[in-house]
Amino acid sequence: MTKEYKNVSANYLSDTEINVNNKKYIIHNVIDGEDILVNFDTKYPSLEKILKPSKERINDGCIYQSICGGCQFMHINYDYEIKKKELYLNKLFKEFDLGNIKVIRSDNIYNYRNKCQMVYKLSNTKKVVSGMYEEYSHKIVTVNDCMLQSTKANEAFKEINKILTKNKIEPYDEKKRLGIIRHVFIRYAFNTEELMIVFVTNGEFFPGRNNVIKDLLKTNLKITTIIQNYNFRDTSIVLGDKERILYGNGYIIENVLDYKFKISSKSFFQVNTKGMEKLYTEALNKANITKNDIVIDAYSGIGTITLFASKYAKKVIGVELNKQAVLDAIQNAKINKIQNVEFIADDATNFITKLAKTREKIDVLIMDPPREGSTPQFINAIKYLNVKKIIYISCGPESLKRDLYLFSENGYQV
Ligand code: SAH
Repeated sequence: MTKEYKNVSANYLSDTEINVNNKKYIIHNVIDGEDILVNFDTKYPSLEKILKPSKERINDGCIYQSICGGCQFMHINYDYEIKKKELYLNKLFKEFDLGNIKVIRSDNIYNYRNKCQMVYKLSNTKKVVSGMYEEYSHKIVTVNDCMLQSTKANEAFKEINKILTKNKIEPYDEKKRLGIIRHVFIRYAFNTEELMIVFVTNGEFFPGRNNVIKDLLKTNLKITTIIQNYNFRDTSIVLGDKERILYGNGYIIENVLDYKFKISSKSFFQVNTKGMEKLYTEALNKANITKNDIVIDAYSGIGTITLFASKYAKKVIGVELNKQAVLDAIQNAKINKIQNVEFIADDATNFITKLAKTREKIDVLIMDPPREGSTPQFINAIKYLNVKKIIYISCGPESLKRDLYLFSENGYQV
């Protein structure tokens, strides 16, 4: 059965809600004002056809976008995507009276991702093929070329498919809990052209591993390191806790602005390299750090912002929970010959709360927490440190709003 919906409205992620027998369902990939046909014969109601497309819809984009759950904006033009995001942010933050919030454009809108990952299955002809999950599902859509991933990663994924097929390495089957390869995770350093390939396997067993490495090194790919990561878990998290290095040193080096960074498989690194440069430049301009300032970089990862800020400050302290990232950060300070930084492996809230008790004086706080934002204890502790200025970098607008309220309650002006 199908049903028509006219002149739909969509949220900023291009989802519209429909009501069926008092139950709400989400239909993806629509644009405000479109007429759509919804199919009710699928497990959940799904988009069957666009009856009247919006003028903002593009058809020259990704061929997988209607089925692949990898991303959300490939069916709309970039100007409209920006407009939708601006509308969303201005509405979300209207109580803060921030003036008109503008979105800074990305220079490259395709093939910008430096971190890429694929899942694996056997095709009908028994070839190993890479793909992505459908939205909200673990059904795998075969994807040969992803328009957001770096072209180098796309090239590598194609070679890996051939090599895994040739060596008869079985993809992992979630239902039967059998097979070897769960994911392949690739990091590509655009500026140094170093490439990291991580095979995520269902346990330590990886028969044919040596042949796979040999075959990979025979390709034209300039591979810096190959890693095997063990993931026994029954979750969607890609990387497991343990890994072993199969080739190279287990990390790659990337140059960002004037610095070099060592990146391990599990450390966080902004996925859009050019976007990251813009973000950090903007953040540091706003921070306006001066030579006598003591700065804290909370949620510091491999120390990117810490090192950028160190150039202007007396001292920068980075605090980060992931121990491997902290080890990378310490190395990164060494590689770049920077001495006025210190890295602490701790929970940011724990660290700031302890520091607040000493009534130490901190001039500038830069914080870049994960999507869920920071904690009330962290925010309450900040005022005891006399922090004059806070730069909050966020990848979760809703948690940012919640935290900004708490900062306001503590006397800060947004
Ligand atoms: N500023 C860095 C990393 C930002 S990502 C950069 O731009 O590259 C957020 C970081 O917060 C991740 O490295 C993550 O490991 C870290 N993190 C998550 N929870 C944390 C916590 N409770 N305390 C400290 N760091 C945490």
